[in-house]
Amino acid sequence: NVRKAGGNSIMSLSNEAHKALSRQALIEKRLLLALDQKNLNVLYQPQLDMHTGKIIAAEALVRWMDEEIGVVTPDELIPIAEETGLIHSIGSFVLEQACQQALTWQDQGISLKISINVSIREFRDKNMARSILETLERTKCPANLIQIEITEKFALEAESETAIMKQMRQLEQEGIVFVLDDFGTGYASFRYMQLLPLKTVKIDATFIRAMTQSEKTEQLVRGIIQLAKSMQLIVLAEGVETAEQFKLLKDFGCDLVQGYYVCKPTTANDVKGLYHQKL
Ligand code: C2E
Ligand code: MG
Ligand code: MG
Ligand code: MG
Repeated sequence: NVRKAGGNSIMSLSNEAHKALSRQALIEKRLLLALDQKNLNVLYQPQLDMHTGKIIAAEALVRWMDEEIGVVTPDELIPIAEETGLIHSIGSFVLEQACQQALTWQDQGISLKISINVSIREFRDKNMARSILETLERTKCPANLIQIEITEKFALEAESETAIMKQMRQLEQEGIVFVLDDFGTGYASFRYMQLLPLKTVKIDATFIRAMTQSEKTEQLVRGIIQLAKSMQLIVLAEGVETAEQFKLLKDFGCDLVQGYYVCKPTTANDVKGLYHQKL
C-alpha cells in the first residue's frame, strides 16, 4: 500500500513537471508573438516624497494579458523571459515606453522620473549601456529622467563581472541613477551600498509588512533607514499598505514610499492626476 502511494506521488510529480514545461513553452511562444505585435503594457506606480507629500517618480511595471493564456504576472513572466533570452526584448520595450512617457510628462510640465527594472541578463549584453543611451537619444528623453532598479542578486553577480560594472559606471556618468531593489532579501547587502554607484535603496516589502507585527523588525527598519541616510543614500519603503506603516516610516525619516497605500500600479494618466495632489 505504502509503496503504491509512493509510486503514485512520483507519477504525479512528473505530471506536474510536464505541465510546467508545456506551460513554459506556451508562454514562450505567445510572448514572442506579443513582443512582435507590441502587445504588452506598462503600468506606473507612484513614488511619494514623504517630506513634501508629492509624487516625484513612478516605477514602470510590465503587464501582459494574452488572448490565449490570460494574465501572466511578472513573477511568472520575468523568470521565463530571463531563461529564454526574451528579457532583452521586454527590457527594450519597457525602456522605450518609459522614455516616451517621461518625455510626455515633461512636456506637460509634470516633473516625474521613471524607474525601470532591469535583469542581470540584460547587462551581460556588452551593448546594453550603448543601447540604453541610443534609446534615450532617439526618444529625446533626458537621461536624468530614467532610473534603473537592480536587485541584490544582480548586485552580487555584477561585483565580479567587470564588464557590467563598467557599463553601470558609463550610464551613471551620463546621468542615469541606480536603485537597489528588494533591499534586505539577499545577503551581504551592505557591501553593495558602498560598492555600486547607487542613489537609492528600496527596503523590501516583507520588512514593511512585518514591521507593525514585530518590535524587532520595526527597529530593523528604523536602523536601515538611519544607515542608508548616513551613507547619503535616499531610502524608499516598498509595499506600504496601511496608514500605520506610513506614519511609522515618516517618524523614522524615510524619504520615499511606494505601495497600495499611496496608489496601485496604474495608467500614466492616473499618475498625472495624482501629481497635482498632496498626501
Ligand atoms: P519589484 O520591482 O519589487 O516591484 C514591486 C512589486 O510589488 C510590483 O509587482 C508591484 O505591483 C507590487 N506592489 C507594489 N505595492 C504593493 C503593495 O502595497 N502591496 C503588494 N502586495 N504589492 C505591491 P509586479 O508588478 O507584479 O512585479 C513583480 C516583480 O517583477 C517586480 O518586483 C520586478 O522584480 C519584476 N518586474 C516587473 N516589471 C518588470 C520589467 O519590466 N522588467 C524586469 N526585468 N522585471 C520586472
Ligand atoms: Mg522594482
Ligand atoms: Mg522591489
Ligand atoms: Mg520584487
